[in-house]
Amino acid sequence: MARMSQGPLQDAAVAPVPPRDAAPREATVYAAAPDPGAPAQTGAPPISHARSASSTVAAPAAKAPRNGPVALETPLQFLPGVGPKRAEHLAALGVTTAGDLLSYYPRDYLAYQAEAPIASLVAGSLVAIRGNILQTRMMPGRQRRFEALLEDASGRCVLTWFNPFGITEKVRPGVQLRAIGKVGQYGGRFQMVQPKIDLLQDQSAVPAAARIEAVYGASSGISSPIIGRIVRTNLPALLPLVEEWFAADYLAQRNLTPRREAVRIAHEPVAMEQVQRARRTLAYHEFFLHQAGIAIKRHHQKESHAAMALGSGATVDQRIRALLEFPLTAAQNRVIKQLTHDLGQRRPMNRLLQGDVGSGKTVVALYAMLVAVANKTQAVLMAPTEVLAEQHFITLERYLRNSKVKLDLLTGNQPAEKRRTILAGLETGAIGLVVATHAVLNEQVKFQRLTVVVVDEQHKFGVEQRAAIRARHGAPHTLVMTATPIPRTLAMTVFGDLDVSLIDALPPGRQKIFTRATGTDNRQHVYEFVATRVRAGEQAYVVLPVIDEGASDLTSATGMHQELSTGYLKHLRVGLLHGRMDSPDRQHVMERFRQKLIDVLVATTVIEVGVDVPNATVMVVEHADRFGLSQLHQLRGRVGRGDKPSQCILISDASTEQGAQRLQAMVKFTSGFKIAEEDLRIRGMGEIIGTKQSGHSDFHFADLLLDTALLQLARRDAFHAIAADPRLLTPEHAHLRRAVLARFGSAISLADVG
Ligand code: ADP
Ligand code: MG
Repeated sequence: MARMSQGPLQDAAVAPVPPRDAAPREATVYAAAPDPGAPAQTGAPPISHARSASSTVAAPAAKAPRNGPVALETPLQFLPGVGPKRAEHLAALGVTTAGDLLSYYPRDYLAYQAEAPIASLVAGSLVAIRGNILQTRMMPGRQRRFEALLEDASGRCVLTWFNPFGITEKVRPGVQLRAIGKVGQYGGRFQMVQPKIDLLQDQSAVPAAARIEAVYGASSGISSPIIGRIVRTNLPALLPLVEEWFAADYLAQRNLTPRREAVRIAHEPVAMEQVQRARRTLAYHEFFLHQAGIAIKRHHQKESHAAMALGSGATVDQRIRALLEFPLTAAQNRVIKQLTHDLGQRRPMNRLLQGDVGSGKTVVALYAMLVAVANKTQAVLMAPTEVLAEQHFITLERYLRNSKVKLDLLTGNQPAEKRRTILAGLETGAIGLVVATHAVLNEQVKFQRLTVVVVDEQHKFGVEQRAAIRARHGAPHTLVMTATPIPRTLAMTVFGDLDVSLIDALPPGRQKIFTRATGTDNRQHVYEFVATRVRAGEQAYVVLPVIDEGASDLTSATGMHQELSTGYLKHLRVGLLHGRMDSPDRQHVMERFRQKLIDVLVATTVIEVGVDVPNATVMVVEHADRFGLSQLHQLRGRVGRGDKPSQCILISDASTEQGAQRLQAMVKFTSGFKIAEEDLRIRGMGEIIGTKQSGHSDFHFADLLLDTALLQLARRDAFHAIAADPRLLTPEHAHLRRAVLARFGSAISLADVG
């Protein structure tokens, strides 16, 4: 982000104005084209200079006169009202240029009502009152508290100051003053705590009008009012630099204001209704820019012919279905249709497969991979962890037991000999299908012809890894599977460059999972219940947050294994599984659990995803408040996979508010979509996926949780605009093009223009 980057411009001298032809190289894909809409040498260079940290083009150190025209790149200290000291404090807030200042929007607004009689006050409002001080007193106690009683013709109000430095001298009985602050009610009396005051000479002072104060993110070095003053001082000079992306009637149709107007109002609002409209306008612009970037990416993807078209006729279809012991659900069939269509194109598939835990995504992915094999090419299924890779491997092995397809497993921890064999098999094409961890990204790994890549669990497998495998292995068709459903807004933003397929129904015969939350004092009952289920021929998981006791005071998996196998469950076969065990040991334990040689499996979250044992019907989670919501949902998804009713029991003495909220959500909701929404509500957007990935920094005004409709509108508009003018070359798109370049320049052209 601009605020963070110390681009070359910051080191250059005053208000550098690089010539247009000094645009960064990455940008030239767009910028090299004729630019009919650009104003001739306005002195406002593409913002990308300041923004793209990778830009190596140092601006010529042209010295602008101190009162020269201000540009977005002008360093702050040359603006009126700033100076070196304040510039330093602002830089610490990430604001270094005039442009940064312009987009350093208020965090909040305080709406002050017009001066009013005391009797008409309403608790909670921000208002000014005026009157005489009747009396004052200093309250005894450890904290110095000063109270003054203010009276006007209609009533009285107590003014209170803590640590009343400089106040006691001014606020004396008989003084006339105006107090501005938030009205509270305390013991039946109006009260203002820490009000601002204006001493009044006489009654003729004009009443304070209603006004709105913008609250800026401040620091101990520089306060919000000072930042506000700096912004307002410079606003008249800076506003003309704000470019309009859209025509007036376009904006009016959408109930939006011109962009420049919205920026002005954001900094200097007169009424809250204005703020609402400005916020909506700027949110729309944020969404639009983001979506335009996505639309351009998609456009390039669509034009690409880099992939191999994989045919799949009726014979292939029959052969694949014959491997499964069940008919596919309608939802699975629909998705398979979408997949085979995509695979048949030269344009690389880029698809997100969403489906709740247990909805049967693996089979669908297998189908796509077998299409690759049927075309004499290779496929890889990438898993985020070794345990999950092993699980997938076992699952696929079972599906493929009546098939000639050669399947193998590649992880980072295999014996050298085994590894060599696998690598050779991949290079010669002897292995058609491989399940792998990120070890597959290693340079030594060469495929004969890799055409299908399935990535399980997008949340843990970075976007970069996906790009890396694409870069190294040509342009394979990519399918990303996620079991944690993604709220609509995220699907449109973070994953907006992917086509989305949805498995929206579970396989038939699934039983509801009953979820309970309970305290640790109820443990004995819980494990007695587990024992009864085991006696009925079923199996259970017990999940703990840590492997061994160590520094934390949490019960650990090893500790619990010990405790249960000598205590409550001593007559049962209790197994242990965690991530520090060797892979063969782990596989052995899983295999024994699958074969019902283990009744209760005590584990860490290694079993969170992918583990599939339909006979397991009880999931006990200890210290349940320590787990994230999607983690809990995933864990719960390990049961309810067969035809027997299942239970999820969350044990905790919830220590935090959020922890308690998560457990409530688990009890209340079974749908992954609901859970995902709750998660978003409890945690906020930024935390769910990395800030960078969420595009959080792109959205100051836009709210990914609340602005769904606006996002949809902006997405539609942006996709229309790009479809009609993919390179934004028409004059009407000139400003927009500059904005897109400034924001995405290098990323877009590097990734997608060949
Ligand atoms: P996901 O990966 O979406 O969580 P899986 O692919 O692991 O779900 O499938 C969950 C379970 O449902 C597996 O045991 C799988 O064999 C089974 N399954 C998948 N599709 C069907 C279907 N159409 N009919 C019956 N069972 C199915
Ligand atoms: Mg799965």
